[in-house]
Amino acid sequence: MNKEWQQCVKCGMTYDLNNVVYQCTCGSMLEIARDPAIFQKITKDQFKSRRLSTKDIDRSGVWRFREFICEASAPHAVTHPEGNTNIYQRDELSIFGAVDNLWFKHEGENPTGSFKDRGMTVAVTQAKKIGLSFVGCASTGNTSAALAAYAAQAGLKAVVFIPDGKISTGKLAQALAYGAHCIAVQGDFDTAMTLVQEAGRDCGMYVVNSINPFRPEGQKSIIFEVLEFFDYESPDWIVVPAGNLGNTSAFGKAVLELYNAGWIKKMPRIASVQAEGANPFFKSYKNNFAKLEPIKAETYATAIRIGNPVNFEKAYKVIQSTNGVVEEVTDHEITIAKQTIDRSGIGCEPASASSLAGVKKLVAAGIMKKHEKVVCILTGNILKDTDAILKSSTNAVKVFSGDLKKLKELLAAL
Ligand SMILES: *Cc1c(COP(=O)(O)O)cnc(C)c1O
Repeated sequence: MNKEWQQCVKCGMTYDLNNVVYQCTCGSMLEIARDPAIFQKITKDQFKSRRLSTKDIDRSGVWRFREFICEASAPHAVTHPEGNTNIYQRDELSIFGAVDNLWFKHEGENPTGSFKDRGMTVAVTQAKKIGLSFVGCASTGNTSAALAAYAAQAGLKAVVFIPDGKISTGKLAQALAYGAHCIAVQGDFDTAMTLVQEAGRDCGMYVVNSINPFRPEGQKSIIFEVLEFFDYESPDWIVVPAGNLGNTSAFGKAVLELYNAGWIKKMPRIASVQAEGANPFFKSYKNNFAKLEPIKAETYATAIRIGNPVNFEKAYKVIQSTNGVVEEVTDHEITIAKQTIDRSGIGCEPASASSLAGVKKLVAAGIMKKHEKVVCILTGNILKDTDAILKSSTNAVKVFSGDLKKLKELLAAL
């Protein structure tokens, strides 16, 4: 069995895998580490062929990579299964982004409609494995939907803290439907996050936000799948919407592990894209990552409406080590990109479209090149935020008044 443990990203202090700990005594974040020899023991074909199995842990796009995620958890896996999402290419989107070789990995195709399922299956599995019965998170919506579903499957009590009035109806409805206890917090996501950390300390609640090192391990599988799809020929860029910076951190860890193991010859560059009204990471990037100044976040892309991202410490190193960039886009740019993705027949929620909006901007700035291979991550499903669609759509419902002649004229004029 693969040896795994928790390790501080700064001082290197190690903790047993089953210790409930979110932070090193030195104050820095933890990550899951493993004996690198594992990369010599498993083959690319083994990972791929598991997809043909009928067992849930093999059919999961997360657990089929279990030796690189958390092998000790696999026998306990609470899996839907999730992952194995599609990757798309569409001419009109390549034209919009001004990149010929542009791809879209659709994480909205996960069981609860966002990539959050990939981290949640690992975190909830860990809770179950060590005998915990109470799990919770702060959420802009998708994390709560994912937690609610996986906690329901595992039979755990789940509490989600959401910023009052600031998450989409669909996401809130999902959490309620799956049976989670929902607490609306006066304030924003960042306020909710602080409360959750306190509940983790004082109320025996297992915190499954991305400060929990098991979450990013699951999210690494997005990158494993992308690289597997391209036969481990790295794309030039991976472009990801950035809020709490969990994906940015996880993606960096994934590419670094595969690069160090010699599975990929080239490191893809990671581009994190923030909404202009929720851009503390972008501001810090412009300042050579001197420090992160928390801000009061505002954007219609509620999934990335975060002013004080908890994964900053991991994420800035990812941008540095992958020769990556951070970009910002306006809500208007996100809306136009989303309408283009929707009209291509693919569809996504607002935050997801910041990836394509970011591509367009990075190409215009000469940072990204037309001939490069670029993969955008679409983080959430089109149905996650129908309010946003109805508010901004240029396509209105036409009313049938009862006059058949008028209806026929209308149809002829379409
Ligand atoms: C959570 C979420 C994000 C932000 O991801 P981070 O890992 O927090 O940066 C982006 N888009 C969607 C749809 C999300 O649910």
